[in-house]
Amino acid sequence: MTALAIRNASVFYPVPGKAPVHALKDITLDINEGDFVVALGASGCGKSTLLNLIAGFMAPSKGDIRLGDRVVTGPGADRSVVFQKHALLPWLNVLENVAFGLKIQGHERRKREEIARGFIKLLGLEQFEQSATYQLSGGMQQRVGIARALTSDPDILLMDEPLGALDALTRERAQELILKIWRDTGKMVFFITHSVEEALFMGTKLVVMSPRPGRISHVFDLPFSRRYFETGNAREIKASADFIALREKILQIIFTDEEGAHHE
Ligand code: ADP
Ligand code: MG
Repeated sequence: MTALAIRNASVFYPVPGKAPVHALKDITLDINEGDFVVALGASGCGKSTLLNLIAGFMAPSKGDIRLGDRVVTGPGADRSVVFQKHALLPWLNVLENVAFGLKIQGHERRKREEIARGFIKLLGLEQFEQSATYQLSGGMQQRVGIARALTSDPDILLMDEPLGALDALTRERAQELILKIWRDTGKMVFFITHSVEEALFMGTKLVVMSPRPGRISHVFDLPFSRRYFETGNAREIKASADFIALREKILQIIFTDEEGAHHE
């Protein structure tokens, strides 16, 4: 069964006094149960636009997006977004931030704290429940953002370069944590990154996009996260021969796209 279906979606951004920007052209993509779909591509190729369509923050100029049997017409609790810059509320502590969406949905305090505590534990933040979020490191703030995104029990988690601002070591640990959460919760994931290594390591399906207009140029099925669950050794997988070969192939694709765009 196809859970999320994007069919021939195109986006034109109007620009006053100029031709519209053709940000996405004819995007067709399925995200099925159990999929961790990663979108990779040069800056400006429409990755965030695609995520915003799925989130329902904007509507496609052409085409449509369905989740199950419903057409996406706006934001909903069945899709949660995690941004690069956490969007936490500085006047609330960790527990209140994680429980915030549940409060908006009208859950009473005891219920929402119980749900929030479950996700705080899942993200390894038990000791920081009462902390102010601005006192936490960037990696921990992102974990709070992920915990909050999970509280609405969405079908799909949408992540726009969630690890882009983290230092290298924190980033690698966060990759492993997100993979475990994906496995343990069974959520579908749509994940945007600039990093080829991150994309290959995390995804079950890799979507390579190219710019002007933004479109999907290649799709690859990936074996590496499954291998990680077998061995538990991320570095070994990232250093393996088939991983490196595919990494170089994809870098070639992206560089060729870039050069093509500059010669237009
Ligand atoms: P990415 O996330 O891959 O970097 P975006 O989806 O942000 O790409 O942008 C795709 C293209 O659409 C870019 O050329 C960008 O400049 C343009 N764009 C994005 N948002 C707007 C907007 N609100 N108005 C006009 N152009 C936009
Ligand atoms: Mg973007």
